[in-house]
Amino acid sequence: MVNVIEFFKTLPKKKCRHCGEEIEEQAECYGDYCDKCASPAN
Ligand SMILES: [Zn+2]
Repeated sequence: MVNVIEFFKTLPKKKCRHCGEEIEEQAECYGDYCDKCASPAN
């Protein structure tokens, strides 16, 4: 099996599905959206 840690290290930065902005590594709950787009107020 592929080592999960190593797998994620090789991934490019995630980009927000909504605005395309690069997502800094955050809590997993952020999913595919950046801080702004993941905001409940948005
Ligand atoms: Zn966004």
